[in-house]
Amino acid sequence: MASEHPRIQREKKTINAMMRIYCRDHHGSNKALCEECTTLLGYAHRRLDSCPFHERKPACKYCTEHCYSRGMRECVKTVMRYSGPRMLLRHPLLSLGHVLDKLRKVPELPKRRRS
Ligand SMILES: [Zn+2]
Repeated sequence: MASEHPRIQREKKTINAMMRIYCRDHHGSNKALCEECTTLLGYAHRRLDSCPFHERKPACKYCTEHCYSRGMRECVKTVMRYSGPRMLLRHPLLSLGHVLDKLRKVPELPKRRRS
């Protein structure tokens, strides 16, 4: 990714931190994520890379584009529900950014042509 939006970069940092907390507490991982969490994180990164909102991305929770597949969405939700509150203590700045994102209005995407 040559020109990655800072907004997307921060989003990745947030999900990285959340996965670390979750994996450490649930899978006993230490330095690196377990295989399962690595797969999930890789998936989340790919979704972020192709997020149609880019810089104006809203918090995923309020996003109108449901880009995650059903199964993956459940996994990520579980991680976020667990790690969200814990992020406040460990990564207050990232959490603050995320709270601000939630206040942002979800932008409208230009209508896509259906083929
Ligand atoms: Zn794990």
